[in-house]
Amino acid sequence: MDTVIYSTHKFEKEYLLKANSSKHNLRLLDVPLTSETAYLAKGATSVSIFVNDDASAPVLEKLSEAGIGFLVLRSAGYNHVNLEKAKQLGFRIARVPAYSPYAVAEHAVALMLALNRKLIRANNRVHELNFSLDGLTGFDMHGKTVGIIGTGQIGAVVARILYGFDCIILATDHIENEMLKEKYGIIYTDYERLYKESDIITLHVPLTPATRYMISKESISKMKPGVMLINTSRGALINTKDVIEGLKNRQIGYLGIDVYEEESGLFFEDHSEDVLQDDTISRLLTFNNVLITSHQAFLTNTALDNIAFTTIHNLDCFESSSKCENEL
Ligand code: NAD
Repeated sequence: MDTVIYSTHKFEKEYLLKANSSKHNLRLLDVPLTSETAYLAKGATSVSIFVNDDASAPVLEKLSEAGIGFLVLRSAGYNHVNLEKAKQLGFRIARVPAYSPYAVAEHAVALMLALNRKLIRANNRVHELNFSLDGLTGFDMHGKTVGIIGTGQIGAVVARILYGFDCIILATDHIENEMLKEKYGIIYTDYERLYKESDIITLHVPLTPATRYMISKESISKMKPGVMLINTSRGALINTKDVIEGLKNRQIGYLGIDVYEEESGLFFEDHSEDVLQDDTISRLLTFNNVLITSHQAFLTNTALDNIAFTTIHNLDCFESSSKCENEL
């Protein structure tokens, strides 16, 4: 199948080529899919996109005009795709539903530990030959209460890791995971209690109209003063401006984010020669209790292997017109 791979990053190229082993004709482009770049797909039959590509209605129309019938997402999340429009235009769409919940869960816990034990500051200090410990005091994870919002694949792994730290784990989800309750003592509760009692809150729900800005001025005011907030899910779960206010008045004691609501066009790229235009992230970068990674929670060799193999498998299914278990 002739496929244009948008937003091909250096880190994933070898994995895609290995998984493909010359089966499909892959055109690897480093540009993102936008209404300006959609024409590049002309002549192909399918397109593959990553998390920050634009698959809104006007872009899908352009892809359809260019003759594209298949959309293969190299991600689990599909909040960047206008599914209704895609269905109307007759696209078949497949995603990578699970490539490694461990990768993302372990990164969420890495953010917690690095923030708690101030590892980045400590490392910077030591490299300047400053071996003082002042200002580096952390807290025992043991016995702390962690609120997990969303106990799907990733949230469930986070719960299991934190069980190992002897944390008290509160959770919210539409669906209660019986195994987590029975084996790991997870307590499902409502948002009120989770916000009130949690020392750490970590987000693992998808971005939907119901979850957009779930962390806002109102929810922040219900949290324990000094709470640690972790987001490895999607940036717009958090109202960043409200979180900045929370950091300023110390209601939020620590913030660890791998995703940012305006990350598109910023994350995944080297902007070290540019003048930063985004005043919100500039402000976030001034806090020493904020840790930001640029959407790298998934970035392990296991996950990259799985993303590449599932993406090629999805193309195989579409080429043979067979049913695809990963189809949306
Ligand atoms: P999942 O579908 O397995 O789990 C999501 C859970 O959220 C489900 O249990 C669902 O019932 C629950 N949920 C949905 N809406 C809810 C609501 N309004 N209130 C309470 N619970 C709700 O998904 P997953 O694989 O665990 O991934 C979670 C999210 O992580 C993805 O949607 C994606 O946005 C993000 N993600 C980020 C990265 C990264 O690199 N940072 C990588 C993969 C996934």
